[in-house]
Amino acid sequence: MFKLALHWQILIGMIIGAGIGLTLNVTLSQRESEVPEAALPDGVASIKMFDSVDVVEITVTDDDGAVSTLLVDGMKPPSEAYATLDKLAAKHPQIYQLFETYGRSWARTLGEAANAIGKLFLRLLQMVAVPLIVTSLMTGVLGLGHAERLGRMFGRTILYYMSTSLIAITTGLILVNIINPGLNTGLNPQGGEAPDVAAGNLGDVLFNQLKTMIPPNPIAALAEGNFLSIIAFSLAFAIFALLVGGKTTELLTEFFNAAFEVMMRMTMAIIRLAPVGVLFLMLYVTATQGIGVFGSLFWYMLTVFLALVFHAFVTLPLILAFVARRNPWEYIKALSPALLTAFSSASSNATLPLTMACVEQRAGVSNRVSSFVLPLGATVNMDGTALYEAVAVLFIAQLYRGEALPITQQIVVALTALLASIGAAGIPHAGLVMMVIILQAVGLPLELQGIIIAVDRVLDMCRTSVNVWSDACGCAVVSRFETQQTSKQAFPEQPEHEFEESKS
Ligand code: ASP
Repeated sequence: MFKLALHWQILIGMIIGAGIGLTLNVTLSQRESEVPEAALPDGVASIKMFDSVDVVEITVTDDDGAVSTLLVDGMKPPSEAYATLDKLAAKHPQIYQLFETYGRSWARTLGEAANAIGKLFLRLLQMVAVPLIVTSLMTGVLGLGHAERLGRMFGRTILYYMSTSLIAITTGLILVNIINPGLNTGLNPQGGEAPDVAAGNLGDVLFNQLKTMIPPNPIAALAEGNFLSIIAFSLAFAIFALLVGGKTTELLTEFFNAAFEVMMRMTMAIIRLAPVGVLFLMLYVTATQGIGVFGSLFWYMLTVFLALVFHAFVTLPLILAFVARRNPWEYIKALSPALLTAFSSASSNATLPLTMACVEQRAGVSNRVSSFVLPLGATVNMDGTALYEAVAVLFIAQLYRGEALPITQQIVVALTALLASIGAAGIPHAGLVMMVIILQAVGLPLELQGIIIAVDRVLDMCRTSVNVWSDACGCAVVSRFETQQTSKQAFPEQPEHEFEESKS
């Protein structure tokens, strides 16, 4: 029977989701309403509501004639927009419920319903993430046989993470200086509301990362799903299990191998739901994002986008072909379920189980390498985020100063962007939070970040795919040196999983 390959299924899911979402966005995203008299709270004469993707406006007229108007920037993620409703709710506690009942546009209502379903898919991925990381790391390290081999792999992995992130940032810097997106725009550099984020200073952030690697209570770290703590403790456990040797090592190896096999099976089953999952996630994003804002930020978005495309389709494939000796096209095809899920979910962490499954089962990279490179990469290796942060800060600087930052300052931006990307979590909008650190480093006003928030989701989707793609390429690179294999084949080890049936 003809069966469409999984990556095509996912792509079709994305297109259908985006198609429905855009239709809702264009046709049903505006609603003007008035709360019926019978539902009005005491002391209120009228409540008028206007909902659109770009703005939510609520006007409350009290019996004594006092008018309070609330304007919410509808382009913010809805949860944030609704949080602002709380201010009005202090005076009129029912306002939130009234907006839910009478004010919401259909695009918003249906979009969020779709998001709730899409999130079920992400929950499934979350469910397998921690046990998959633990069993995979244990199996990987125990399979190495010697603790020293891990040291070498660690060195190569970190070298790969750092160098690709720096190349990505350099690509971003070059494109900003060519395109100059912040000069000649009609934007008002003062326009924008200070985002409600606190990232602390760079030293604190990095020291916190280090602290996280020593979980005072490993069980609590497991329960909280804190990746860095889990990786650090699992690594330590597996290394010491190797050092103990004999029956203990044998027993643990057998146990973790078995558990890992089960977790991998589970993940492969969840992967099949990806087409439906991304359909709903895409529907949500396209139905609830304003299109108007893209106009004024066009050059900025184009710069980020082109730089990401260059990194993903030129730099990384060249590394794949010449360093990892892999066929980039075959490799990207093998990884496509993970890359498309990263795009739809904007979260490297949520995508991690799929990335692991694709790298091992579809691209044939050994578990020894992927179990180590991928979980660590999801947290610390973010080429897309590093590039994005550098471009965004230089764009803001151009806008604010009317000219580009001097080169020395641009180098400060590049290095801080690298560190900020290491500190960023693999969750949606994490890069935006971390950007505060870079703005501080070069003395730019933090509230200017307000200008780019509206388009962050779309750029987040793009940079997250690049983050995941770079982690996956890292596996191929490290794996080449681990196995010393020089074959140019894309699938050196024939994957045995039944999943392969659906590969085209
Ligand atoms: N969403 C990104 C990720 O999960 C992080 C970011 O916001 O840049 O990889």
